[in-house]
This record gives sequence, structure tokens and C-alpha cells, in this order.
Amino acid sequence: MPFNTTTGFIPMATQCLSFEVKASAGPARRGVLRTLRGEVDTPAFMPVGTAATVKAMTPGEVSDLGAQMILANAFHLWVRPGHKLIESLGGLHKFMHWPGPILTDSGGYQVFSLSDRRTVTEDGVRFRTPHDGQYRVLTPEVSVEIQESLGVDIAMAFDECIEWPAERDRVVASTERTTRWLKRCLSARKRPEKTALFGIVQGGFYDDLRAAHAQELSEMDLAGYALGGLSVGEPRDQRKAMAIVGAANLPSDRPRYMMGVGYPVDIVEAVQAGVDLFDCVLPTRSARFGQAFTRFGRLTIKHARYRDDQDPLDPSCACYTCLSFSRAYLRHLHTSNELLSHRLLTLHNLTFYQDLLREIREAIVSGPTALNALEAKAEIWTKPIPA
Ligand SMILES: [Zn+2]
Repeated sequence: MPFNTTTGFIPMATQCLSFEVKASAGPARRGVLRTLRGEVDTPAFMPVGTAATVKAMTPGEVSDLGAQMILANAFHLWVRPGHKLIESLGGLHKFMHWPGPILTDSGGYQVFSLSDRRTVTEDGVRFRTPHDGQYRVLTPEVSVEIQESLGVDIAMAFDECIEWPAERDRVVASTERTTRWLKRCLSARKRPEKTALFGIVQGGFYDDLRAAHAQELSEMDLAGYALGGLSVGEPRDQRKAMAIVGAANLPSDRPRYMMGVGYPVDIVEAVQAGVDLFDCVLPTRSARFGQAFTRFGRLTIKHARYRDDQDPLDPSCACYTCLSFSRAYLRHLHTSNELLSHRLLTLHNLTFYQDLLREIREAIVSGPTALNALEAKAEIWTKPIPA
């Protein structure tokens, strides 16, 4: 049992996951996350495979471009095709043919996004699924059961997602509920030797609340910690401030994960605050909308200026797309709504993100000056190229 009347918790077994910091530059850390299914060099970016697929890519392509861990979505796989079916077929790794580590989010973000069809109680969230209109209830216990049945390497605790902006009283009550739900997640675990559990730091955008929650969760001796409730529409400087205060109050020997972030400059800034893990739909989703991340900024391929442009998307990129095709051809594919457009732009964007994280890791080893220089470049890479 995880509960201990004196300390609140007995330290949880975390043998299925370990983390080592190899170098640092200020709060930024270069490290290695070791899982039962392989190592992950950190800071790391996890491509998003919501429905057990990184859209438009094969697992081999995702691995070849440098990704070592991916993210899948507990909510979507619960609703369709069902976690029990995936378990009966040998688990998520086998089902989707991804042998490396997988992290799942808890489903909390998705159910709280269904703002007009959900009811939140202390027990959990009752909602109607968009797929079939059926009512379901997602609780901390159900979320853990889904993620353990999928057999993932890292599960996320089921937390309450707070809107932005939110009044202090509302943030206090919500953060306390997140802690109670985390304790229920810990008690519900049946396979801690296979699936590690990360807690999620909330506290809204109040320095003291976020620091206090980070400290409270630190005492629970979890395998890792996420900074939650960020990237919800807040100004960039507020997110940066919360990343700094959150990371500073978490144990230095555990991985820190910023969920759902972000643009290149957002990632560099969070790394500078001491964050180790990232995921975001931006490189994959933008690709399907014809946007490419490049060293000149974000390139919108449909613009007429690329109609007869024979250059690659990004001459400094060594991905298959950039080595093989012109902007003119990629624009033609996109405007003709060809499937290959999705594949080629996704391949490039994911390569861009893996290259960015590799440059970040190298900069940390070089020192704070190199990291600051990279931040300045990432600022340019984040801006859209004018039409
Ligand atoms: Zn490329």
C-alpha cells in the first residue's frame, strides 16, 4: 500500500524508470531517461501518436528521424478501439509496432476539453463521448487501469485541468483535488514494476501556489513530474515564470515534463527553466495544414511565391523531403490535396524538432552562452515567414 500515516507515502518502487543528469547549464539539464524499453536522451521531444499512430508516419520512420519515445492518448484509445482489446492483442507497443518507450496522457485534458458535455464531481468526470454519444465516467482509478492495460512505460496521473485565467480560490480548490486524485491514482496501481506514474503540478499562475504544489508532490517520491495547466492561452512570460518556479521546487534527480508545449522558442525557454521532456501536436498538425518549420521561420507552402521555387524546404535540413523535393513540388502536392504532402511535411517537421532537441542537448553541454544563442535563433524559427 502506498499510504504511510507518518509521511503520507511509502516511497514507490521506480525500478522501471531511472533518470540521470549528465551535464547542466544553469537550471538546464542534459540527461538520460532509462526505461525498460530503452534510453531517452533528454531534453527530449515526443512525437504525438494520439490514436496509436504518429499521423502519416510509420514507426520505423519516426525512429529513423531520431525520436526515442512517443506519446499516445489514453482517452482516445479507451474510447476506440478500447484498452482491453489492445491488452488482449499484446499491449500498445505490439499493437502499433513501436518497441521503444511510450508515455500516455491520462485523458484529463480531453474530458475537460468537452466543456459543454461533462460534469465534474469529486469522483471524476462524467461526459458524453464525441464518437458515439454514450455517457462514460473517467476517474483516477479508470485512468490508471486504462494506461496500465495499454502497458505503457509512463502513465500520467489524472488531474483537474484549470482554465485560464482563474480566480485564486478556484485554483486552490482545484489543485487540492488534483492532489487527492493523484493519491487515488497511486493506490489504484497494479503494475508499478512496468508502468511508472508521473504526478502533475498545478497551482495555476500563482507563484506561491505552484511552488507549494511542486513541493507537496515532491514529498510523494514519484518517478517524474509534469508541469500542468500551461499553454492554455496565457502570455508567454507567464508560462516562463511558472516553468521556472515549478522546476525549481521539484527534486533535481527526477525528470520534468512540460505537457503540450510548443513552438521552438517555447521549448528552449522551458529547457532553460530546467524542463526535460516535451510533446506537442504542432510539427505533425502543422504539416497537414501545409506549414513547415525551417531555419528561416514557419513556411506556409501554399503561398504563391513558392510556385516555381526549386529550393528544398530548408537547405540546412538533411531529411528525405529536403534532400529530394523542391518547394514548388511540395506546394503542388499540398494545393492538389495529395496524401504525400502530409507524409513529406510531417517527416520534415518531426526531423526539425528532433534536430532542435539535439542542438539543445549540445548547447547545454557547451554552456549557458550557447543555450542563449540557440534561444535567439529559435525565436526566428518560431516566427511565420511573411507571404
Ligand atoms: Zn527537411
